[in-house]
Amino acid sequence: MNESPIVELREVHKAYPLGETVVQALKGVDLKINKGDFTAIVGSSGAGKSTLMNLIGCIDEPDAGQILIEGEAASNRSEPEKCILRNEKIGFIFQSFNLIPVLSVYENVELPLLVQKKMTLEERQKAVDEVLKDVDLLKYRDSLPNKLSGGQRQRVAIARALVNKPGLVLADEPTANLDSQTAHTIIDLLLKLNKDKGTTFLFSTHDEKLIGRVNKVLRIQDGRIQG
Ligand code: ADP
Repeated sequence: MNESPIVELREVHKAYPLGETVVQALKGVDLKINKGDFTAIVGSSGAGKSTLMNLIGCIDEPDAGQILIEGEAASNRSEPEKCILRNEKIGFIFQSFNLIPVLSVYENVELPLLVQKKMTLEERQKAVDEVLKDVDLLKYRDSLPNKLSGGQRQRVAIARALVNKPGLVLADEPTANLDSQTAHTIIDLLLKLNKDKGTTFLFSTHDEKLIGRVNKVLRIQDGRIQG
């Protein structure tokens, strides 16, 4: 049986006004990401990668076309509905980690669960400790982010992205601020999570180390997917 793709874009267009003109950032993008994919979106600066990631992440709206997340239309929803969709179905990882410096590792990872307001304190503790174990950071649960290395910080960010058990994780240049050895360790971890938990990952990246390990590469140029 054919499951519906976790992400589907149909003829998606997006333009930005720029002074007197308009920049056509996406010019009719069709794509499908299937459950369990480990995919990289690759393209030069200005090609449309961030625009695409923001639309898939329901952070921005397309001008035309359709975006489906797990078979459901993501566009034309109210802001509170989009918040729920983002919180429950999508995890985000950023190149500069985006941890909150005054919160401990535990509290940073707990945040998406507090937003969701569905779990008791005990359930949250169990979920956070479980995911901290998955990224091998349990012993740092009470540390502040500035006591951690770059690789450890990115592992906290990965735990935060996964704590709600989203089907899809969007990762914007997740290895860009890491040295080569640490980048390899992080890629190994992401691949393990992909295999063990079936989480679908979509990366925007220039990093050949990561591009060499994905199972699908989508090339984007001038707002169009190539090939
Ligand atoms: P990439 O992530 O591949 O570098 P982007 O999606 O950021 O590409 O940009 C695609 C095009 O849209 C570029 O020409 C960029 O200048 C333009 N663009 C992106 N965001 C904006 C914005 N907020 N306002 C105006 N133009 C934008």
